[in-house]
Amino acid sequence: MHYRFVLPPLPYDYSALEPYIDTRTMRIHHDKHFGKYVDNLNAAIKNYPQLWKWSLEELITNCYRLPVSIRQAVHNNAGGVYNHSFFFSHMQNGGAKLTADSPLATAINKCYGSFDAFKDVFKQASLAVFGSGYCWLVRPHNSRLVKIITTANQDTPLTHHVTPIICIDVWEHAYYLKHQNDRAGYIDDFLNLVNWQAAEFAFEKEDMRVRRR
Ligand code: MN
Repeated sequence: MHYRFVLPPLPYDYSALEPYIDTRTMRIHHDKHFGKYVDNLNAAIKNYPQLWKWSLEELITNCYRLPVSIRQAVHNNAGGVYNHSFFFSHMQNGGAKLTADSPLATAINKCYGSFDAFKDVFKQASLAVFGSGYCWLVRPHNSRLVKIITTANQDTPLTHHVTPIICIDVWEHAYYLKHQNDRAGYIDDFLNLVNWQAAEFAFEKEDMRVRRR
């Protein structure tokens, strides 16, 4: 996707993730927060028609080639669009189960010992994000293994030479209405919602190499 960017609709109903994530949080998070990143990204590049053909990923990874006056705005808002697109599209009601003998399950078992042990490490890493950011399960390029990384604010994994598999948004706006300061409870709830079928698909994707502009 490229300019003019549009807010993708949720791939499920606002209430689909109840009782783990409440309808009101989903409405505000998707329509207002995610929507604002889309609007702000469009506003940032509106007066730069030479950027209108750049994809979202190209804008993020070629940030240093952007006019200095819009560089920070594009970094923040293109990152916000990328991260929220990924977050919302990798959850589903009831969470699709991880296929026991899938390549992703094999990689998780190899790297963490068991699925439950992986969830513990993922939870601790998500808890340890100081302030606002995300926790990701990723596959390093040229690898059949997985690792957990965290990103601050609206930084993305796109510059880390990895293919993202799942992510949790741990900005307070993602959980404060329902969970208040209980980030741990929110992470437990999120782990019931992961669309592991989408994650398995992401694991098999070719290494994402974004074109240099
Ligand atoms: Mn968010």
